Parts: sequence; C-alpha cells; structure tokens
Amino acid sequence: MNIITHALTGWVAGQHMTRRIDEMAIITVASVIADIDAFGAVIDVIRGGEAEMFSLYHHKFGHCLVFCLFLLALIQMRWKKAGLTLCCAAVFHLHLLCDILGARGPDGYQWPIYYFYPFSEMGIVWKHQWEINAWPNIVFTIVLMCLFLKRCAMQKFSPLALLFPAADEKFVKTLRARFKCCDGATTDSDESGAA
Ligand SMILES: [Zn+2]
Repeated sequence: MNIITHALTGWVAGQHMTRRIDEMAIITVASVIADIDAFGAVIDVIRGGEAEMFSLYHHKFGHCLVFCLFLLALIQMRWKKAGLTLCCAAVFHLHLLCDILGARGPDGYQWPIYYFYPFSEMGIVWKHQWEINAWPNIVFTIVLMCLFLKRCAMQKFSPLALLFPAADEKFVKTLRARFKCCDGATTDSDESGAA
C-alpha cells in the first residue's frame, strides 16, 4: 500500500494504543519505516534512468525481520517501554501484511516481501494480491481517515500539535464542530503530552 495509508494505519493504531502524542509519532514511524528501502527511487530519478535501484532494493532490507529487530532494539533501548515496543512490532508487521495483500504494481508485478533477507532470497507473495490503487486500498484509506479525524476530535489534538500548535487548535476546533458526538466526551488532551 502507499505511504499515506501506512502512516494513517500507524497513527490510528497509536491513537488506540496510547494517549501520548510522542508515542503515537513513534508508532507511526514504525509503521512506515519499512519503506526506507524505496530510497532507490530517489537515486533513479536523479540519474534519470530506469527504476534500477528501486527494483533492486525495494521490499528487501526495510521489510525484513532483521531490520525489524534492529528497530525494536533501538526503541526499547531509547524509551524502555515494553508496551510501546510491542506496538511498534505490531504495526511494522501490519505494514508487511498490507503490502502482501494490496501492493501489486500496475504492470502486474507482485513485489515480494523478502522477510528473511539477507539470509534468504525467498520472497513472500499472495497470489490474490490486488493492485496498489485498487478499491480495497481506497476504501481502507477512507475508513482510516474517518477514524483518524474522529479520534483527533475526541482527543483534542492531531499530529499538527507536534509542529504547529496554533494550527492544530483551529483544526481540532473544526473537527469537534463537525463531530457533534464529541461534545461533552471525555478527552485525553490533558494526558497527551501535546503542546
Ligand atoms: Zn512497504
């Protein structure tokens, strides 16, 4: 799936797993970071040639168990919260599952997941995998967007609070006016750590 859907998956999961915005951000990073192995696309664009580097590395070192364990070790050492580390492990693997389900290229190529890279070149594919722009991905993204906005309204903060507190205040105010069901609801803003 595309990076926007992966990011939404991570943030929505974070909204349900923690009340702290900094932890939501960490969980979101864990849900998208596998696609770091798509960096070759940038080099390909700069070089102006075929998608050679992208094809060579995508779904390999970022989408494998070794990278996941490395990532989890860093998170555990830095934040020392087993619950947070487990959440990150869950969203990382949710990313892989989403890619296996719906990341087929327009040309029909399935982009296998090399989970055991670099020890094995065995690629994981699902024969019924749908295209990356197919309707299930669009529906999934819309559902995630609705959940995300509703939760932002309920919790009285959005990712904007990380960088633009004033904009976040206006954004949340608009959301709360839209989701009238939030009126009077218990919020988590005081405990979020949001600015
Ligand atoms: Zn991916």
